[in-house]
Amino acid sequence: MHHKLLFMSTPIGSLGSGLGGGVELTLSNIAKEMLRRGHEVKIVAPQRSISNSLPIKEIPGELQIPAQNQTRTDPIFIPKNSVLANMWDYARQVQANYDLIINFAYDWLPLYLTPFFNTPIAHLISMGSLTDTMDHIIEQVANQFPGTIGVHGKTQSATFTFADKCKCLVNGMDLSVYQFCSQPGSCLAWVGRIAPEKGIEDAVAAAKITGIPLKIFGLIQDVPYWEKICQDYPDAPIEYRGFLPTDELQQELGQCRGLLVTPRWIEAYPNVALESLACGVPLISYRRGGLAEIVQEGKTGFLVEPDSVEGLVEAIKHLDEIDRQACRQQAETLYSLEAMGDRTEEWFQKILKK
Ligand code: UDP
Repeated sequence: MHHKLLFMSTPIGSLGSGLGGGVELTLSNIAKEMLRRGHEVKIVAPQRSISNSLPIKEIPGELQIPAQNQTRTDPIFIPKNSVLANMWDYARQVQANYDLIINFAYDWLPLYLTPFFNTPIAHLISMGSLTDTMDHIIEQVANQFPGTIGVHGKTQSATFTFADKCKCLVNGMDLSVYQFCSQPGSCLAWVGRIAPEKGIEDAVAAAKITGIPLKIFGLIQDVPYWEKICQDYPDAPIEYRGFLPTDELQQELGQCRGLLVTPRWIEAYPNVALESLACGVPLISYRRGGLAEIVQEGKTGFLVEPDSVEGLVEAIKHLDEIDRQACRQQAETLYSLEAMGDRTEEWFQKILKK
């Protein structure tokens, strides 16, 4: 059965800007795979979104502020002429043309609006528990519309009191885009949005201690935070390579000996870890959030005590013990687009049957 699917992108940035973090890639991967399976897909996203060959309806308006910068008791914030509100107004108007709406935003409004829509809504929740208001509204939807809350990983869903009501989907990558590199150079890599919750300063510290050059890829989301790191570590062997499109990122990432993943927060299921494995690059990661589910200890990487730079340094010494082929193999077995497509399609179909 082919369905008509309306994808609602994140309102914190246009697609392709990097502001939306992993959600941007997750959305385009699911869209790509659903189109390949013959479903009809339309993506609703903020103005100036770019996505090669995917059908996008661009919506103007003010961007939403990222939820990860909020504290537990913060109220919901919606700016004047909100792009989030405008996107959902558009969805309301066209809903009759679609079988299912898929919400990719970690925002209160789409969850609140769910009972007001005639077309069913699936919510793919991209982060763990962050604020009380969000926890409350997600749980309300989970109870009122069973099966419509999707998450990426078990550690992520465990941050919610209603973990058992979440459908675990796990991300998938278009592995044909990522080339396996068996012979890396001498550098380490760090990939992601440059923002405090990502803890990049620990990777920089590890580079300084070991003297091994660190290549950094990603959008500088928090400029003062990045400037402070550059001031604190003026002589660390780091090279900022910018925010690269996937094909260029994978090429440079593949040349690296390992990827350092240093989150301060519970990452749901970071795409950068899966992309790294797809290139054959082992992971050295804090044992936190989805990374604890992804890293196969001693086989595709090492889990390090959270916030321990010493732990990172120690693990780096053992990088050569990892068989890069095993890393690529893990990506092929667990994170292929096809496997993700099966899980996601099954989720959609269950919701539509109700
Ligand atoms: N990314 C990219 N180019 C870069 C660095 C990062 O396209 O130079 C993308 C990467 O592919 C990933 C996203 O940025 O999809 C980061 O997402 P992740 O899930 O790791 O973390 P989030 O930002 O969602 O917390």
